[in-house]
Amino acid sequence: MLYTRVGPHTRDLELHPSGLGRVPSELRECRTTGSVCGFCSTGCELSIHTRDGRAQGLTPSPTWPVNRGVACPKGWEALAVTQSAARATTPLLRDDGGVHRPIAWDRAMRLFADRFGAIARRHGPESVAFLSTGQIPSEEMLMLGVLAKCGMGMVHGDGNTRQCMATAVTAYKGSFGFDAPPYTYADFEQSDLIVLVGSNLCIAHPILWSRVVANRRDPAIVTLDPRMSETARASTLHLRLRPGSDLALFHGVARALIERGAVDQAFVDASTVGFESFARFVQAYDLPRVASATDLEVAQIEQFIELIAERGRASFWWTMGINQSHQGTRTAQAIINVALMTGNIGRPGTGANSITGQCNAMGSRLFSNTTALPGGYRYDDPKGRATVSRALSIDAGRFQTEPGHAYDRIVRGITQGEIKGLWIIATNPGHSWIDRRTIENALGMLDFVVVQDLFADTETARRADLVLPAAGWGEKDGTFINSERRLGRIRKVQRASGQALADFHIFRLAAAATGNGALFDTWTSPEHVFHKLKATTAGQPCDITGIEDYAMLDRHGGIQWPLPAGHPVEDQHRRLFEDGVFHHEDGRARFVFEPPRPLPETISARFPLLLNTGRGTSAQWHTTTRTQNSTVLARLHPPQAYVELHPSDAKHRCIADGDRVRVVSRRGKIHARAHVTRSVRIGEAFMAMHYATTNLVTRAQFDPHSRQPAYKACAIEIQRLE
Ligand code: SF4
Repeated sequence: MLYTRVGPHTRDLELHPSGLGRVPSELRECRTTGSVCGFCSTGCELSIHTRDGRAQGLTPSPTWPVNRGVACPKGWEALAVTQSAARATTPLLRDDGGVHRPIAWDRAMRLFADRFGAIARRHGPESVAFLSTGQIPSEEMLMLGVLAKCGMGMVHGDGNTRQCMATAVTAYKGSFGFDAPPYTYADFEQSDLIVLVGSNLCIAHPILWSRVVANRRDPAIVTLDPRMSETARASTLHLRLRPGSDLALFHGVARALIERGAVDQAFVDASTVGFESFARFVQAYDLPRVASATDLEVAQIEQFIELIAERGRASFWWTMGINQSHQGTRTAQAIINVALMTGNIGRPGTGANSITGQCNAMGSRLFSNTTALPGGYRYDDPKGRATVSRALSIDAGRFQTEPGHAYDRIVRGITQGEIKGLWIIATNPGHSWIDRRTIENALGMLDFVVVQDLFADTETARRADLVLPAAGWGEKDGTFINSERRLGRIRKVQRASGQALADFHIFRLAAAATGNGALFDTWTSPEHVFHKLKATTAGQPCDITGIEDYAMLDRHGGIQWPLPAGHPVEDQHRRLFEDGVFHHEDGRARFVFEPPRPLPETISARFPLLLNTGRGTSAQWHTTTRTQNSTVLARLHPPQAYVELHPSDAKHRCIADGDRVRVVSRRGKIHARAHVTRSVRIGEAFMAMHYATTNLVTRAQFDPHSRQPAYKACAIEIQRLE
């Protein structure tokens, strides 16, 4: 053993055989604290090395079962971005000239309470709303949801998680009866066939790609993506289908599998409902029809079907290519249907598996009090309201009986004059919202905007009347839940910048200022709140009442839900539905299906190209609020917005690689650098979402079931700039 941990984090540290996780000599005398990374949902643990209360550096934790001694570039730079000189260090109030001036916390909180209170008294409780995030710990999410809805009386609040995984939530609830991603990351290593749908795993989830590479079963890898992504290049089979045609493809695959007799009839009979009508429905999707709908060759589709039918264990993984499409929910359910009918669920190396995006998107799904009550209860379930009320010691009458508006409806509510005050926490819709001029207009119409974030220079914070400076990763305590349902701790190792406070403390201040201090009388530390949120899960599919305390999470390398009270942690890698019992009342999964719908915006003579958007590099995180503050990460991605277009489309427009171009849609015009590449199909283009201009051209279109924005296909033209 080359170094030891100090403090309560007591898992034995042995070096990975490859030497991964080695700690540089200058850090070996430091105190070491493990903390789950604050960027993506993979949930890697990073060991922070501190001396005299200041972080000196970090290394990926060698024994954490997720990342096993490795991290992506963002993880390595996690400290650097929070230590940036650009951090917000004091509350800021916009003056009459529009300039942000520092003010004291007590004045900031008085203004917070007075201004929101005055709006609510004048226009009603529906006139103040909040926009939350997948970036803060579950404990803080619970506090925000309780304070806003049970305390301040807000009716409408939603999270930026609506932008990344609402589709998966809706699909799982419909198919399984609960929002329950069924897998464990070990399934990547135990599959014979790994199907990646709308996922550039190499770039978006590089540590998960390392788990694919670690598979010793010689798996076939099939990638479904219109773009020749890094992942597609590394695949056995790349199905380069037409944007938005995945739903037709999976219906056709289901029909062909039935014809081949590749149905696991015993599983279908015992564990599902609706297969017969599904089988009748997919009869219309013969291979010539599907080939025509997808632009694929019949032989390619047959090869895909053959792999599903013949390979023993098939796992299906999807990300934003599905979630952010105009029919994402039904497409996700079409993937689930194929997994169910072939019995590829509940066994090692299988599953219909949504990988999510933000570090605690999974926590928001259970505890944010936005789309469901804490613990995953429905708002219209009186028994659920009573349970949550008891668990949190809050009168049941203070909980809503139906969810408030979804994100897009909140934005519309602002532009229609129904919502006058907005509290935005740890998110930057001024950059990330689809067709972002809609939110820019909305922000300009509000009477009072509060932004609570690490930085005061985001596109959104610059528009705020009041900025509340928040602590970042390494500066506060709590828990995250990763994509495979694993709870892990984030830990405070140093003071926040200036007067910035953990959101936990800001919510307590806000509660006191608004006369709701009693709500949090016993919520005196993140671990106290953890016990509250734990109590809301009793008897639910996500039951975590068996997690005794924070220290237990440390001892076991995180713990996946569920873990009911009295159950030992027997395995670090647990998947759901091994018993074939799902969460609908009858214990059976549902086949949910619908015919495909056309893309909401079609190409035309004026806008003849279809624009796809997505992640650019592993060095950029979403709106780059944090990653732009790392000089290391800045060297790992193009500094300016770029647009990928096919050589034939470039030639037609006299555009050469590197030319400055104008990207034009019905929403607006932006400038970018041309990247001429065969990675995109003829007639299509691609832009990375990390550049603030990208969403000036996207179109406000939504999956009807999940209200998730469909960022993936809008009509554009590209023109060379003289
Ligand atoms: Fe952090 Fe995600 Fe990178 Fe892991 S893969 S280090 S969780 S950003």
